Amino acid sequence: MDDFDQSLQEFQLAAQARRSAAGWLDAFEAALASRDPTRIGALFHADSHWRDILAFTWHLTSVAGRDSIAVRLAAEQARTAAQGFHLLEGRKPPRQVKRLGVDSIEAIFEFTTADGRGAGLIRLSPAPDGDGAMKAWLISTTLEALHGHEERIGANRPTGAAYSRNFGGDNWADMRRKAAAYADREPAVLVIGAAQAGLSIAARLNQLGVDTLVVEQLPRIGDSWRKRYHSLALHNSIHLNHLPYMEFPPTWPKYIPKDMLGNWFEFYADAMGINCWTGTEFVGGTWDDTAKCWTARLKCADGSERVVRPRHLVFANGVSSYPMVPDLPGLEDFKGQILHSEGFDSGAGWEGKNALILGTGSSANDIALDLHSHGVNTTLVQRGSTTVVSIDPSARLNEAIWDEGGPLEDCDLIVSSATPPLIIKAYQSVTKRMLELDREMI
Ligand SMILES: Cc1cc2nc3c(=O)[nH]c(=O)nc-3n(C[C@H](O)[C@H](O)[C@H](O)COP(=O)(O)OP(=O)(O)OC[C@H]3O[C@@H](n4cnc5c(N)ncnc54)[C@H](O)[C@@H]3O)c2cc1C
Repeated sequence: MDDFDQSLQEFQLAAQARRSAAGWLDAFEAALASRDPTRIGALFHADSHWRDILAFTWHLTSVAGRDSIAVRLAAEQARTAAQGFHLLEGRKPPRQVKRLGVDSIEAIFEFTTADGRGAGLIRLSPAPDGDGAMKAWLISTTLEALHGHEERIGANRPTGAAYSRNFGGDNWADMRRKAAAYADREPAVLVIGAAQAGLSIAARLNQLGVDTLVVEQLPRIGDSWRKRYHSLALHNSIHLNHLPYMEFPPTWPKYIPKDMLGNWFEFYADAMGINCWTGTEFVGGTWDDTAKCWTARLKCADGSERVVRPRHLVFANGVSSYPMVPDLPGLEDFKGQILHSEGFDSGAGWEGKNALILGTGSSANDIALDLHSHGVNTTLVQRGSTTVVSIDPSARLNEAIWDEGGPLEDCDLIVSSATPPLIIKAYQSVTKRMLELDREMI
């Protein structure tokens, strides 16, 4: 096949994918409007999956099986009133892909509901009876924006009139200082923890116009990463770690060093106008049912206690930052130094000593290499057999969607469309592929 024929074939396949996806969406909208589970079900394979992120169910919901999906969609449609399903222009176009071993047409679409604007993904494959009709084996629906609370971004950005050339009045910096002080008002939301999760949610809430205060117990935003061990760089690639609205610069390395990330968090919080009190620990709170708000107690940097009364609390205090030392028999009699990885900085100063590392996760391997390169006699101990995987190409398979390129939102949408049973299948299929790729090395 010459280049022209190949281009023509690709064009025809793309046009066919577009027709199939658009036709399916039209039929889906009509079936949904009828709220008839039989009509809705007729558009799905028996073994199909639906992932809803807030759009229909106000929850993170996964439903498996044609009948369950059809009945739930019909029931939720009464309140959701989803309509206007159409392919999303300017995003990844409908295309032929192989997902979980199934040759599929994958398409990204948009719709509206009574509450807001949604986006979603379908994967279609031919019906098994061979009549040529395309049926969905996956649909995802995600709420992207709320009517009347659209994010103030792009064309909707603020004019800045409130603080521009405000002669004789406050300028932007004065207003930021006052806003962050909460001297005469209460935040609507209190976020506990100013790392990835806390900063991301605060940035989003700011754009929705929700008054949000973040508290961070450490002295500086980003310290949660700065205080981790000296040699640390992220283990997953840069694509998986962007925060909303402001991607890392394209000049940045694929694997971000920990201090670079910590510094970015500090810069990000400032750029996003996030109100954050550092050196401030959330120590407890109670719900006041009369006032319909929390009484949240904070221990401030100067040792004083302050109470704030937000309507909502968000716990973004992390899962990986709490050291867990197992109670191993004989540990209390050990005469050497015992350290959790959380307290490890570097192998410097340990030269010539013996080190035993219990566990073989990412931190253990990084720390073992660091100790070894500082001349420490290092042994790793683990319970089970070793899983050996090459970083490139095998480990990268898990990030293949982001490596494909294209808009970040599309990659995120594709990945977040997977339901738990599909995630398990995907890992099983990736593991098989890794074994093939790494056969020689293993
Ligand atoms: C050594 C190591 C390497 C890692 N490498 C990676 C990686 O490469 N890629 C990856 O995706 N993930 C990695 N992780 C996991 C990583 O911790 C999480 O992905 C990420 O930090 C989670 O962000 P978070 O905002 O949920 O929580 P955290 O980063 O844990 O942040 C929680 C924040 O809450 C603050 N806080 C806690 N309690 C309070 C309180 N009572 N009051 C006020 N503030 C409080 C903490 O000080 C902290 O700043 C790694 C973890 C470790 C330990």
